[in-house]
Amino acid sequence: MAKMHFGPAGYPTDTSGNPRKAFRIIRDAGLDALEYAAVYGLTMREHTAEKLGMAANEYGIVMSMHAAYYISLVSKSKQTRRNSIARLVKSLQFAPLMNVTRIVFHVGGYSGLTPDEAYPIVRSSLEEVWDTIGHRDQGVLLAPETAGKLGAFGSVEELIKLCSNVDGLIPTIDWAHLHARTQGGLNSKGDYLKVLEAFERNLGSRFVNNLHFHVSGIEFTSSGEKAHRPLGKKWGPDILPLMEVVREAGYKPTFISETPEPILGAIYSKFLLEELEKSNS
Ligand SMILES: [Zn+2]
Repeated sequence: MAKMHFGPAGYPTDTSGNPRKAFRIIRDAGLDALEYAAVYGLTMREHTAEKLGMAANEYGIVMSMHAAYYISLVSKSKQTRRNSIARLVKSLQFAPLMNVTRIVFHVGGYSGLTPDEAYPIVRSSLEEVWDTIGHRDQGVLLAPETAGKLGAFGSVEELIKLCSNVDGLIPTIDWAHLHARTQGGLNSKGDYLKVLEAFERNLGSRFVNNLHFHVSGIEFTSSGEKAHRPLGKKWGPDILPLMEVVREAGYKPTFISETPEPILGAIYSKFLLEELEKSNS
């Protein structure tokens, strides 16, 4: 955990799907991470994945991947559950080619089950993903995300339990989602610290050495997230207290921005941290 990283979710606009162009824009913006958006499924061929991985390496870009949106491990449809497992397996198979070390995904909705009923299904599905791959120590981790909707699996407590019980998992902390799920609960350093300490207490070095954060502003209703928004004053959560906590605790997260213009959110996040460094040195 030598260094923090900052980057956008998905290629910057105007790259027409050209990875080298995307990496150049990211690097020229002073950033060094990309969460590859395979959100409509992973359709590339293996040699394309290899070329992408080599280019990321050449440009010094740290890679994660956001797996398909249609993953729904607790779906009522058996076919959807099978497909969801298969999508995660395919993401894991492609990750080493793409230089990807973390596969971010949404577990999905509770599908009418209680959280307690949903939990064992999620757990056994992820065990099955790893059993299909046959190993879990080749440097790629599955990173289920904190969910923004109250009807979706992915509270802090659920992710702690899941990551404690299944090897090869780390949480992706989407702070905007957490803010929406808790109806505006992230406002102070203490609010952020409580979440980080709970994960650290339970998951220890696996958590601390693999911190993966999503940041953006968010609009929400009583059922949770409605839309991702820019960072800054207008929408919560304010990430300045988060940056203070990160700095004081010496955490080294990768920050992935999911704002409407992701690259701007990544630049803003990095700027906030640099300003803190300056004012404290
Ligand atoms: Zn996210």
